[in-house]
Amino acid sequence: MGPRGPIRPGVDGGSAMTQYGAIEAGGTKFVCAVGAGPDQIVDTVRIDTTTPDHTLNEVIEFFRHHQTTTTLAALGIGSFGPIDLDRNSSTYGHITSTPKSGWAQTDLAGLLGKRLGIPVGFDTDVNAAALGEHRWGAAQDVDSFIYLTIGTGIGGGAMIGGHLIHGLLHPEMGHILVPPDARDTDFGGVCPFHGTCLEGLASGPAIEQRWGQPPHELDASHPAWELQAHYLARGLWTLTCALSPQRLILGGGVMEQAHLLPMVRSDLQKVSAGYLQADELDGEITKFVVSPGLGDRAGICGALALADLAYHQDS
Ligand code: ZN
Repeated sequence: MGPRGPIRPGVDGGSAMTQYGAIEAGGTKFVCAVGAGPDQIVDTVRIDTTTPDHTLNEVIEFFRHHQTTTTLAALGIGSFGPIDLDRNSSTYGHITSTPKSGWAQTDLAGLLGKRLGIPVGFDTDVNAAALGEHRWGAAQDVDSFIYLTIGTGIGGGAMIGGHLIHGLLHPEMGHILVPPDARDTDFGGVCPFHGTCLEGLASGPAIEQRWGQPPHELDASHPAWELQAHYLARGLWTLTCALSPQRLILGGGVMEQAHLLPMVRSDLQKVSAGYLQADELDGEITKFVVSPGLGDRAGICGALALADLAYHQDS
């Protein structure tokens, strides 16, 4: 447990810890959990993302089963997107224009809140992961940082000055443009919208399409990794210049190749070229570009934290 300690017990807490529901809603699976924090998760389930009706009915069944014996104070959802986070919008809480078949215009937060009868905290999957890392993981000592996931896609959440960033819609850090490298001019990228945006050049599917093998099958000496570090460093440089984060947390399946992180750090220092006068870009780079403290649980733990925020806003 970090310096922020456990989730605050609710007004009805007594000796028992307040229990929350949490969902990490993804395009291939919904991870659902009941608990109070990373060390107090009492149950989890993975439900395939099929149709909204089928998937959400299974999700509701899981939480209702727990509601027969436990009071769930609130539900937190970190969702794939794009999603509507504007509380003044008639479609707040909806997944909006996703290409995931059948899921466009699904009222995720509204439907689950109504069916379970509890307040709902709702944000992007990556903002949820950022919140989890701030409360329990690798960002407990800073209040401005970026969480970037590099996997099937590339997405980023950011907390600046203690607030998760929303805005026009929400950050879409995977779709920033990076200059294609001279070594890579034959590759058109995999993003259906932009071709060679960061996601188009450096997501798992981009690596697989370019080299004919998925990332986990490429050994550490493969030239794929130098190019991968090159692109990620340029993306991180742009994000660092724009948002001035105190830390960069890199998660997702592609980053599970442990040799990649030091290469990204080294390339980021080269791109900076001494311009940003901060120890974090110099001798303390290993504290600036880091792995998630919660590992692959950042998203689901962040959803628990979203539930906690929703509960305390509502009560
Ligand atoms: Zn794109």
